[in-house]
Amino acid sequence: MQQQPRIRQITLFDRSSTAKGLGALVALDASGSIVLDSLSTTPRVGNFADREYFRAHQKRELGLYISEPFRARLQKGIWSISLSRRVNKADGTFDGIVSGTLNLDYLRERFSKADVGLGGTVSLLRDDGILVVQSPAGRYEPGADWKSAPIVKKLKSSPIGTYWASSSMDGTSRVYAYRRIGDTPLVVSVGMSSRAVMSTWWLTVKLLAVAYMVMAISVIALVMVFTSELRKRYVAELAQAALARSDALTGLVNRLGFAEALDAAWRSARRTRKSLSLLMLDIDYFKQFNDVLGHLQGDEALKRVSSIVADTIRRPNDVAARYGGEEIAVLLPNTSLNEALAIAKLIRFAIEGLAIPHPNSRYRVISASIGVATAIPSDDAPLSLVARADQALYNAKDAGRNCVVIASDVNNLPVASFPVNPA
Ligand code: GH3
Ligand code: MG
Ligand code: MG
Repeated sequence: MQQQPRIRQITLFDRSSTAKGLGALVALDASGSIVLDSLSTTPRVGNFADREYFRAHQKRELGLYISEPFRARLQKGIWSISLSRRVNKADGTFDGIVSGTLNLDYLRERFSKADVGLGGTVSLLRDDGILVVQSPAGRYEPGADWKSAPIVKKLKSSPIGTYWASSSMDGTSRVYAYRRIGDTPLVVSVGMSSRAVMSTWWLTVKLLAVAYMVMAISVIALVMVFTSELRKRYVAELAQAALARSDALTGLVNRLGFAEALDAAWRSARRTRKSLSLLMLDIDYFKQFNDVLGHLQGDEALKRVSSIVADTIRRPNDVAARYGGEEIAVLLPNTSLNEALAIAKLIRFAIEGLAIPHPNSRYRVISASIGVATAIPSDDAPLSLVARADQALYNAKDAGRNCVVIASDVNNLPVASFPVNPA
């Protein structure tokens, strides 16, 4: 205080007092009157003994004290806060305070630079729930009472956090993030409108949804294409397999198909212990038919005989196959000797009934001889059944043709055969 006022001013305040947003730095004596003033070498006249921050320091040692917002009396009533410390006498008793004021408009302007989206807010408040300043202006005045706002409760459990809340002022739902500033009682809180925050999220969700839809649709499409290709291939393979096992002239199963069918039927019959019957059919005097009427007529007759055989068998597992030139084998699973004999008779009768003229046959029409054999398959090979049916056919030819002969034994009895009268 002994210095020249100008020197004292420079020593005390220097450039610190010209910092942006700073109001005035003042020292108040124990009665609250200004004794030093950064804005004037001759301190402005004023007494602040009534200020809340003065009274707080008066009561006890507080360290740095951040005041509630107030309208600065000496600065046209602009909203300010004071940052103050107590000054003690040598004996430790109260000798006044040093206080600097901060211009809240300045802080708000700084806050407004933060991009918090449409409807977003930046607030500075004291941890006791007194709002210092909020940007944008207009919703809450500095000093507003936020004591019952959720942030005050949250602060008690954590100095930093986020939460969702709906504003009681404008009803907007916001997500808030807050943080205590260092060791001070100040807290900064940023609120962004849920819609603004979620808009990028929704955009991502929508883009992802579209991407997933496209992927799902492509996968479905690929699966459909793949399935259809597989089906086509399967059908083609079936057709090819059928073709490989079918006889071009008669449409009956060919020799390969017959071998497979016989094998399968044999194994099935062995498993189920059911009888399996086989007819061996050979057209009578067919060489002479060809010789007299030509091979084309022969082919035609062969086709008609084949189709009448195919039409006579009924069960889905019955198989008529072209065994050789004009020889047809008929496989009858789960069919007894008697049933097989009946079917053979029907076939013989039907062929005769075609009444295809055959000048060189004693029967005057195309006829066929049929050998019948039945087995309940055991360990012997299926070819034994073929051999026995063949033997019976041979016997039918021997017996005068156009007749049915059975191999009398069912299971490996000696082959015995006898002619069966036509029809
Ligand atoms: P049978 O059986 O009554 O003892 O006398 P067959 O004259 O029928 O004697 P065989 O079975 O030995 O003769 C078979 C004849 O069948 C030989 C051939 O001329 C004729 N043949 C075989 N395959 C075909 C064919 O695909 N088309 C035609 N047109 N004839 C065929
Ligand atoms: Mg023959
Ligand atoms: Mg013949």
